[in-house]
Amino acid sequence: MIAPGSVIGIVGGGQLARMSGLAARAMGYRVVVADPDPDCPAAAVADQVVVAPLSDPEAVAPLADLADLITYEFENISPAVLERLAAARPVHPGVHVLRASQDRIQEKSALEAAGVPIAPWRPVHSEADFAAALTAVGIPCVLKTATEGYDGKGQVVIRSEADAPAAYARLAGRPLVLEGFVPFACEVSAIVARNPQGEVVTFPVAENIHELNILAYSIVPARVSPETARRAQELATRIASQLKLVGLLGVEMFALPDGRLLVNELAPRPHNSGHYSMDACATSQFEQHIRAVCGLPLGAVDLLTPVAMVNLMGEDYPLRVDAALADRRVKLHLYGKREPRPHRKMGHLNVLGHTADEALDRARLAKQHISTK
Ligand code: AMP
Repeated sequence: MIAPGSVIGIVGGGQLARMSGLAARAMGYRVVVADPDPDCPAAAVADQVVVAPLSDPEAVAPLADLADLITYEFENISPAVLERLAAARPVHPGVHVLRASQDRIQEKSALEAAGVPIAPWRPVHSEADFAAALTAVGIPCVLKTATEGYDGKGQVVIRSEADAPAAYARLAGRPLVLEGFVPFACEVSAIVARNPQGEVVTFPVAENIHELNILAYSIVPARVSPETARRAQELATRIASQLKLVGLLGVEMFALPDGRLLVNELAPRPHNSGHYSMDACATSQFEQHIRAVCGLPLGAVDLLTPVAMVNLMGEDYPLRVDAALADRRVKLHLYGKREPRPHRKMGHLNVLGHTADEALDRARLAKQHISTK
């Protein structure tokens, strides 16, 4: 166990590190972060910022000298950076989990090995692979880069045979995957925590509503049957156990109209769709992250109230905070970013409600009221 008073080192200093750091501080830990920007969101809660490009193992290495334990807040870090840190200190989640989440080919292979249902898919390394994959997977389908895709970047939907050559031309030159287009009823996610003792706890399932491929709203409980929600939690638990995860893992899934679930993506860190837990659960995902990586017993994740989370983006600025907070069940979280650029996540609101639908309605109103666009 890494006891309170110890120093937690976080690779990346964005909002996820900031909120993890706040939870760590509340439990008496100290926090250091590595980030290229000395004024990053997590700087406000850190004792020290190691200012370093996160692609450079030697530049990030001093983080290990300052910390008793290392974790990270995003998955697009070079494994070489984590390996360098792991030579000096425990790193959670481990490099094997990072690798599985960075590359869709490894991710899908790991999910299949765990017996987890996913959409039909094929790896694509050449034009011949692509042709064979189109036949195997069928149309409609989605061509994706195997690495470095996020928020819908690096993917093209193929709706007819005529779309195929242009889709390939656009992404070719990198390892790709072709996967079946899933006619989902909704997208859901389950965040699971596992500690080194093997204790596993999965948060209530969130339903995620995207706008322009970026998460806009998460609502809990998700509008799926209790049976589907339970199975989503079971899948997340199975993945965490199979990966021998230590830390937190966000599991994104498609819910089909018949209630079946297909896992889409893994993120070994606190997840945007888990921000609701800060105000609606007995333990927030950030506190759970710290408990898990430090080897403490995990906290209860009972949902205390239905809730809707809405992201605040750069284009909403300047904010009319007082207009949104006039609804007394709106909770404001801002990340301290100085520059409100378009499509940049600046903060979020958690809107507590009597039902998820009612919370979502009021979250939409709160978003209208706070935004001056
Ligand atoms: P991803 O980068 O894989 O998380 O994909 C971003 C978003 O694109 C997802 O949240 C879905 O809304 C959509 N999407 C991705 N893959 C598929 C698919 N195979 N079928 C249908 N929609 C998809």
